[in-house]
Amino acid sequence: MPQPPPLTLRAWLLHATRLLREAGVPSPEADARALVLHTLGLGASALLTRGGEVVPEAEGERLAGVIERRAARVPLQHLLGEVEWGGVRLRTDARALVPRPETEWLLHLALEALRPVPAPRVLDVGTGTGGLALGVAAARPDATVTATDLSPGALTLARENAALNGLAVTLVEGSLLAGLPGPFNLIVSNPPYLPEGDRAGADPEVRHDPDLALYAGADGLEVARPLAAQARAALAPGGVLLLELDPRNAAPFASELRADGWRAEVLPDLAGRERFVRARLPS
Ligand code: GLN
Repeated sequence: MPQPPPLTLRAWLLHATRLLREAGVPSPEADARALVLHTLGLGASALLTRGGEVVPEAEGERLAGVIERRAARVPLQHLLGEVEWGGVRLRTDARALVPRPETEWLLHLALEALRPVPAPRVLDVGTGTGGLALGVAAARPDATVTATDLSPGALTLARENAALNGLAVTLVEGSLLAGLPGPFNLIVSNPPYLPEGDRAGADPEVRHDPDLALYAGADGLEVARPLAAQARAALAPGGVLLLELDPRNAAPFASELRADGWRAEVLPDLAGRERFVRARLPS
């Protein structure tokens, strides 16, 4: 990127917005604003009170680098380094899936399922950044929360995020429920659930998420199936299995679970897409 002349804060914002728009970034204005403020260490009010001030050259260079990376479609969350999600702060980088807003609704459903259960035992399978496990731990100090992940990098990130929030969760490296005896009152998971065929058409930002967190075989259910099978033996009586799935798969997977003897229902996300499955074993 050619080095721009010294610009005011307001001019930087316009310049960054234009570069991001030209790069096809879906929300150029919001991203430019977030990156300019974050990189310069400013609060939102600075745009009103200091918009006419010239940004010093060294800071302008840093800003140019960050904007260039976003224009190359590095996820905003990786550049900001941290997100507010589900009532906790989560460091985000290439070690795990960027926490999605729809998964906050999965956390909501998890907390709803736990409401009648005192001192619940909760398992988050494939925790990634740790978001679901930490969201539960933050909202339910009486819960005992365990979280697993196959990826050592993700587990390290989840451990950093537990420390960042001062929350205690047990983190276990392993495949699905391997070695975890239960019984759990709730098993919650946002597993990889995209069909392999989606890989070719993935958004540029999604290519920065680990494939391990995204794709689950030809039909996208090759992780959810063994997960449900293992959950069967690990749920406490009355326990709930709660999964996020691709909207193409939630209803078919609920049918599969019912055929296996579960009581299973499909729940919509906030955009009305059938994205979640809530299942119980008959008592
Ligand atoms: N919702 C994510 C996406 O569409 C997929 C996350 C997942 O597979 N768990 O990119």
